[in-house]
Amino acid sequence: MRMNRFLTGAALAALAGCGILYGALSIPSLAAQSYPVAQRATGKRDLTVRFLGTATLAFDDGTTAIMTDGFFTRPSVAQVLLGKVQSDDRVIDKTLARIGPQNLAAIFVAHSHYDHAMDSAAVAVKTGASVYGSASTANIMRGAGLPTERTTVFEDGDTYAFGTFRVQVFETPHSPHAKFPGKIDEPLHQPARISEYQEGGNYSFLVTHGKRRILVIASGNYTPGKFQGVKADVVFLGIGTLGKQDEAFASNYWHETVEQTGAKLVIPIHWDDFMRPLDQPFRPLPRLLDNFDNGMRMLLPLAARDGVKLRLPEAFAPIDLDQ
Ligand SMILES: [Zn+2]
Repeated sequence: MRMNRFLTGAALAALAGCGILYGALSIPSLAAQSYPVAQRATGKRDLTVRFLGTATLAFDDGTTAIMTDGFFTRPSVAQVLLGKVQSDDRVIDKTLARIGPQNLAAIFVAHSHYDHAMDSAAVAVKTGASVYGSASTANIMRGAGLPTERTTVFEDGDTYAFGTFRVQVFETPHSPHAKFPGKIDEPLHQPARISEYQEGGNYSFLVTHGKRRILVIASGNYTPGKFQGVKADVVFLGIGTLGKQDEAFASNYWHETVEQTGAKLVIPIHWDDFMRPLDQPFRPLPRLLDNFDNGMRMLLPLAARDGVKLRLPEAFAPIDLDQ
């Protein structure tokens, strides 16, 4: 009994310590406010794209919708460090009601880390969508009870069609030095520790809709020549931990994704602190995990040099794709 009490006390102290440390290190980079922000789309449009945090994007043309990742739960730092995490039905319901995707056909999962794949099954169950991802992602879907026939294991180069949408899959590396680089070999049941969400390979997506070509790169890394011959108007560029890399890496990343595809609009994604709930204003990841300002500092001159608009997305707002 006394031991139990001691353990509870120790756990609480550790929790409080984590909270204080995290709080101190997560003093928001206020400069986020001073970076150029993407214009909102207004009026009637052929395609609506919204940024919903991390690498989650919702595409909707009024007839068909598709999504990347679909991660909404965003467990707190205490849950992530000390316990197990699981999809939060209430948060997912609230978020889906807010964005209201009609006819969500597909969810494309970039990789199997929890901040990408944890909620994909719940979103699929609630909307009727199917999930497309790696074999590891399929095991997360299986463990979460999504019927097997609603999950497709994709491979590099595969292309899928949903209404006017076409999605092409490109295998690209995860950002450097990531934790949990392994695979998930059996159904993963929630709740689970974040270490159980092993990466399972990483993928980028070229979403084509009519004349529009939009490249989504969830994780900040590149394979030289991977997008040679691929054209895109807009790149949603994952910049998580980019600020911890050097100038040469940032410049190569930009070259292999933006210059190579000729995109004229770049929207950084996966820069927000995903241990804060979705209904609070987005803030960059804490310094302990990333250096958002340094990432932006390296990218802005490259954008200026190439005449590319680099614009931070506003959460939930329809993005003007023609700005
Ligand atoms: Zn990851």
